[in-house]
Amino acid sequence: MAKLTDPLRPVVGDKAAKWLGTLGTGLRTVGDLLTYYPRRYETRGELTDLAGLRDGEHVTVQAMIASVSSRPMRNRRGSIFEAIVTDGRGQLTLTFFGKGRQDWRERQLAPGLHGLFSGQVSTFRGKRQLSHPEYELIGSGEAGSERAVEFATELIPIYPASKDIASWQIADSVRLALAAVEIDDDPLPAQLRNRHNLYGYARALQAVHRPADTRDYAAARHRLKWDEAFMLQVVLAQRRRLSTEYVSLPRPPIENGLLAAFDRELPFELTRGQQVAGATIAADLGQEHPMHRLLQGEVGSGKTVVALRGMLQVIDAAGQAALLAPTEVLAQQHHRSISQMLGPMAMAGQLGGADEATRVALLTGSQGSAARRRSLLEAASGEAGIVIGTHALLEEHVQFADLGLIVIDEQHRFGVEQREALRGKAADGRPHVLVMTATPIPRTVAMTVFGDLEVTELTELPAGRSPIATHVVPAAEKPHYMDRTWQRVREEVGLGRQAYIVCPRIGGQPDAASEEATSASRRPGRGERRQDDEAFGIADDGGFNFDDEDFADSEAETQRRPALSVIDVAAQLQQGPLADLKLAVLHGRLPADEKDKIMLAFADGQIDVFVTTTVVEVGVDVPNATAMVVMDADRFGVSQLHQLRGRVGRGGQPGLCLLVTEAQPGPARDRLDAVAATQDGFALSRLDLEQRREGDVLGAAQAGRRSSLKLLTLLKDEELIGQAREEAEELVGADPALAGQPALAAAIAEMLDADRAEYLEKA
Ligand code: ADP
Ligand code: MG
Repeated sequence: MAKLTDPLRPVVGDKAAKWLGTLGTGLRTVGDLLTYYPRRYETRGELTDLAGLRDGEHVTVQAMIASVSSRPMRNRRGSIFEAIVTDGRGQLTLTFFGKGRQDWRERQLAPGLHGLFSGQVSTFRGKRQLSHPEYELIGSGEAGSERAVEFATELIPIYPASKDIASWQIADSVRLALAAVEIDDDPLPAQLRNRHNLYGYARALQAVHRPADTRDYAAARHRLKWDEAFMLQVVLAQRRRLSTEYVSLPRPPIENGLLAAFDRELPFELTRGQQVAGATIAADLGQEHPMHRLLQGEVGSGKTVVALRGMLQVIDAAGQAALLAPTEVLAQQHHRSISQMLGPMAMAGQLGGADEATRVALLTGSQGSAARRRSLLEAASGEAGIVIGTHALLEEHVQFADLGLIVIDEQHRFGVEQREALRGKAADGRPHVLVMTATPIPRTVAMTVFGDLEVTELTELPAGRSPIATHVVPAAEKPHYMDRTWQRVREEVGLGRQAYIVCPRIGGQPDAASEEATSASRRPGRGERRQDDEAFGIADDGGFNFDDEDFADSEAETQRRPALSVIDVAAQLQQGPLADLKLAVLHGRLPADEKDKIMLAFADGQIDVFVTTTVVEVGVDVPNATAMVVMDADRFGVSQLHQLRGRVGRGGQPGLCLLVTEAQPGPARDRLDAVAATQDGFALSRLDLEQRREGDVLGAAQAGRRSSLKLLTLLKDEELIGQAREEAEELVGADPALAGQPALAAAIAEMLDADRAEYLEKA
């Protein structure tokens, strides 16, 4: 008898073991093979007999290969490979055209083998044939035909195969492994299995490979998904638990401090969501263990106020807060708006400053050395209760007197290491951490990717928010719609309002190649940066860049014209349709002080139209801006467009968003129509998630995860993941070290090892 951890070779033989070692990440143990699951199952159904085939029919036939031949094509390079198959009554030709020689197919389709062949029937020179049929080989000789009979009553597992090893060969090895293996342990606790009516592990492995019927394999797969979900959630629950063992200084609210004063002066009423989130955070901050909380809410839901109130509570408790923003524009804007909201409360030591006042310092990579020195000093001395900055905050020489709270805005651009770097700056224990994101993250992703954070949601928008009407402008089919687009912009400006025009590219650089690399139409690889980050030095690869694009189609890509650029579009508009308006450009390549100046002028209403990159994507808040035109809108991701349009309709006036595209009707246009049809960010982020491979989402956030999720899908298995999370919480709460669950502990250790190995291999 073999164990799951035993090597495959003695069980399946040398040759098969060698082949199996080339599959996937390399199948080496009995367990590796038995967790190499079938991709699907062929239901055999009614097989057509060869004598009765009719042209045009789609058929699946069962037959034996009688003979094969191969010849070069006459007029072109390449070869034609033909196999004649028979079921004893009739004959059928299988034809395969290849660009080169098809030796491998000749090795695969050897005479004597039985198989299932499916395709569309046609007639060529009086002979019935299937051209490029799909096939599933069963085996040869006596055994093959026996197996064929067996298969008549069975579901046939179809494995992801390679050109060296066919699905039926994998099935043969699996059969040997199933016969040899002895499984006594079950990683899932018995009580959990009973509660959720799950197959035992041995039965599940048997049934996933050799199901009796469809119900059998569904139950098997369900059970095996549980293994994946549960083990992951146990690891996350352990991590959450570990983090509650860290100690931090409690910062409970006080009665007559800055926070109370701020609340008295607040010009609006907090939404219910803001109140609830505020109370949760206030309670967290009073604990002696660090808070790790994700505050999630649609654009404009008012996350900043919630965070600011937490910061004030920490300041009231003699601590400091750091606010980390992903871009300079955002850091500056936060600095401006927070200073403004605090008014005299942020003017300690200044004329007109309140008694209990603090200071708000700004620290960015590109500020002048005098301003920088002052900020560094204020942070280190504790004079500044709030220090706002970009990644510059992470640098080693930045020190705090008593850092109590770290707020991270728009989390998806920061990686785990960056979070860690900041945490290290607290003198006493660990600071509390609040992560804010406007990108709606489906619950299961939040539970999985951000599984070590508690999640709080702001579901409602403050009163007085206006809807944003979104329309797709098909510029190629209806050029006159463009005139109408510019006219709408002029109308808005005529009413005293402002507009954004967003382009996917900066432009105006001699090095066209490197610009294409930063265009929003393709996903940046590791180490590359998006255009808006180039000035800020934040690489994407550590972060969870949820709204990033991943739709690049390499075929279409080469034929597409370069994306429209800020510089070109601004010049054309200024000379043409928008000649009499005040235009300004804003993008990541401008020097920081200039960016700040332009932002201020726009916020102040001195500029009518902002031509810009996605630099306005996150958090920019100018209530008087009511219109947005997105050029080449098809080059942006769905969630990204949703974020972008969140910049308009922030005041009392309705917002307008026009998505200009030259894309023909098809998938690209459908995506834009979806954005136009709904303002539900969650629905759109699900759409985004569906359109990218799951591994990208997980892989970007947590290296290695993909190897441990084989059957589980984050979107479809939402309910199961939720249940697994509850079960994991309970188990880890009662038995943190899994002392009573040796099989589970071993399986988790193995999973983490495999993940680590894969991660190291990649790095
Ligand atoms: P986001 O969640 O996108 O970061 P902000 O925090 O920037 O949103 O808030 C958007 C705007 O709404 C700001 O101008 C803010 O002052 C305002 N705001 C926040 N909360 C409320 C509220 N309860 N009532 C009215 N306006 C609010
Ligand atoms: Mg914000």
